[in-house]
Amino acid sequence: MSSLAAFGSKTVARGVGRFTDLVLEKGSGAYITTDTGRQMMDFTSGIGVTNLGHCHPKVTKAAQDQCATIVHAQVNIGFNKPQLELMQKLQPLMPHKSLDTFFFWNSGAEAVEASIKLARQATGKQNIIVVQGSYHGRTFGTMAMTKSKTVYGEGFGPLMPGVFTTPYPYWHQVGVPASTSQDELVKQALYQLDLLLKQQTAPRDTAALIIEPVLGEGGYIPAPKGYLEGLRKICDDNGILLIIDEVQTGFGRTGKYFAIEHYPTVRPDIMVIAKGIANGFPLSGIVSRKELMDLQKPGSMGGTYAGNAVSCAAAVAVQEVFEEEKILDNVAARGEELFGLLHELKADKEIGNTIAEVRGLGLMVGIEFNSPTDPYTPSASGAKIPANMASRVQNKCLEQDMLTLTTSVYQCIRFIPPLNITAEEMKKGCDIIRKAITDV
Ligand code: PLP
Repeated sequence: MSSLAAFGSKTVARGVGRFTDLVLEKGSGAYITTDTGRQMMDFTSGIGVTNLGHCHPKVTKAAQDQCATIVHAQVNIGFNKPQLELMQKLQPLMPHKSLDTFFFWNSGAEAVEASIKLARQATGKQNIIVVQGSYHGRTFGTMAMTKSKTVYGEGFGPLMPGVFTTPYPYWHQVGVPASTSQDELVKQALYQLDLLLKQQTAPRDTAALIIEPVLGEGGYIPAPKGYLEGLRKICDDNGILLIIDEVQTGFGRTGKYFAIEHYPTVRPDIMVIAKGIANGFPLSGIVSRKELMDLQKPGSMGGTYAGNAVSCAAAVAVQEVFEEEKILDNVAARGEELFGLLHELKADKEIGNTIAEVRGLGLMVGIEFNSPTDPYTPSASGAKIPANMASRVQNKCLEQDMLTLTTSVYQCIRFIPPLNITAEEMKKGCDIIRKAITDV
């Protein structure tokens, strides 16, 4: 009997949106085993957290050793040693030299909020601009900045003074003809942002614009060519700080250490990091240039567990494994195999008409399905497409012992395997995906 059943269904506090009753007891590499002994392939990686697979031996050992050394000390007194080691490891990996100063927290949302706090303190301005489809967390502040449908069920986050939304250039939206070129969409989105800034009582009221370089919960959509570059220019022209949220995309997920490296001319003023940094241990941070960080008001940043020594020790080990195991090379090879399969399925005469788009970068991979009913997706001309393809395919994968995720908008299923997945494991995963889509 599963340990959940032992509680009795009425006594267990249920999380919202959990799509199985599985109790996940043990993790090893690309696999998770439940408390009833069912072994499952994990193509979710904690949404970009366990990038080196579950319980990577080197990361586990680093955390164990640190547990026997010092776990916690009053953070206002000084630094812990792993924190300093981690900053040394991270600094050369930053996408721009200007990102030279770090501050650590525990969760992504905490760090996003800190980036907003810093932007407001540094500029003396209030407003924050977010993009349609964004996801930045579930604290009250970050919910207000989240414009994908994940929070409050079908609704959006709470309204908060000073948070404004600008359109995202994506063709797959109600009322946007699929034939509209990407360049035209980017032009229109930047024009709308310009209008938004002009409408504000003073353009100078905006402290920051925050964006994920690949929309995560908002549908696994990499920023189209020219968009981030255009945002950078508008920010420069208006004295607005550009915050790049790399919580989900960071640490190799997209095939580069940070996704912003796919857009080499775009310099973040502040970058937010979390998730993959410590392979499952709670750790997050913001990185910026020293002059900006120095503008923090004393005592306004921090938290009891911020930059915890065990998480930092694990994070140091993560960065070492990246080098030792040539993780980025593996992402390139395995990503090609996964994308290869998905493009092959899209080109297939029998089932290809169900697939609207295959998209993503590296091993952050999604399929957008066509749908006859979802107002967000156009139906393929005359073709019979089953409704709710994304969740049906997800369930078919689950039947074959593979965990996957959908996104909260559109008909998108996403595949987020560990970055060190082997060729053999990827082949097995691809076979499961092929069968799942064919069966539906
Ligand atoms: N920002 C992005 C882009 C995310 O994907 C997430 C989590 O999925 C967050 C922020 C929030 O991170 P956390 O859940 O650690 O608070």
